Amino acid sequence: MASLYLHIPFCEHKCIYCDFYSIAPHEGGGDQNALIGRFLGALRREIDLRGTAPFTGADYTTVYFGGGTPSLLPPEAVGEILGRLREKYRIRPDAEITLEVNPGTVDGESLAGYRRAGINRVSIGIQSFHEDDLSFLTRIHTAEQAKACVRLAREAGIGNVSLDLIFALPGQTPERWRGNLEEAMALAPSHISCYSLIVEPDTPLFRMVQAKQVQPVDAERDAELYEFTIDFLARHGYAQYEVSNFALPGFESQHNSRYWDHTDYLGFGPSAHSFWSDRRWWNIANLQTYVDRLGRGEPPTAGEESLNRDQLMEESIFLGLRSSGIDLERFRRRFERDLQRDFAGVIDRLVADGLATVDRAQLRLTRKGYLVCDEICQSFR
Ligand code: SF4
Repeated sequence: MASLYLHIPFCEHKCIYCDFYSIAPHEGGGDQNALIGRFLGALRREIDLRGTAPFTGADYTTVYFGGGTPSLLPPEAVGEILGRLREKYRIRPDAEITLEVNPGTVDGESLAGYRRAGINRVSIGIQSFHEDDLSFLTRIHTAEQAKACVRLAREAGIGNVSLDLIFALPGQTPERWRGNLEEAMALAPSHISCYSLIVEPDTPLFRMVQAKQVQPVDAERDAELYEFTIDFLARHGYAQYEVSNFALPGFESQHNSRYWDHTDYLGFGPSAHSFWSDRRWWNIANLQTYVDRLGRGEPPTAGEESLNRDQLMEESIFLGLRSSGIDLERFRRRFERDLQRDFAGVIDRLVADGLATVDRAQLRLTRKGYLVCDEICQSFR
């Protein structure tokens, strides 16, 4: 079992908080459509270049178009990429195929085109239903466009809809955040991701905070909003299966779950990461160099590392605790290490403090535990 990820490095505009690799039209030094054309040519070459053993022998159960803004690609381009992938890699007919969508870039026609191209799940970046929040975040869409996007996706035949929201915006009160969650519930998504606003270095938001133009919320308010989110969504039937992700039963993102499972995945496009067996590598985060390298028939890799058993084990604990827990039996078979015995003191204390549970050999964090997930991971070192 394995997964495919495609990083589409274009945005109509760079949001102030975002540190993902993508370029806006004014940064591309010219015609963005021409740039997209060159990128697609290079992407085809990368798909072909990697189309060898062992990658061609796996069964791929998920494909994910992320970015950037993949919904800037015309549906025909998405269909062509999927066709190319299918020629080289064994993608299962029932694979989950997700496209990240920015509501400011689509209409009914393009969403219907994506469905025809093979997209069966959309992850819609809404972030807030308050217009002033959207302006602050410099999103390119309105709340009405976001709502219409959900409706149009369904009309286009894409029933599996995930929404992204951001909480802990400067000055955000629990009432305002509740308003966002209520608006989201009215749209009845199958999946919802709620991220706390992080001030990433080298972003306009970072500089605004440094210049004291923006005051981030304090840790206490952040935790209050997060706990409220978990309770609110649980009451509405959405189970938390990762720190920031919630789903109706059966609608957990298969793609993300694979990452957290340490399943093999191949990433294509500038800045994309790949993980296979015990090796990780990542592509250069520069579109021009990516295109040039592939033009010369060279892989666009920027770096790689091989993980030893201890590193894999540590990652596996971290990824498991962040998501739906650690299957202790599977862990023992994989690493020949009995976590329950070796960390008996740590686990007992976590359970006694209400931070974790052990149920049928599955160690998982509680709501309270997710709040201090990073600290808990440290205790398994
Ligand atoms: S649209 Fe998404 S990827 Fe693009 S800048 Fe905004 S948050 Fe980042």
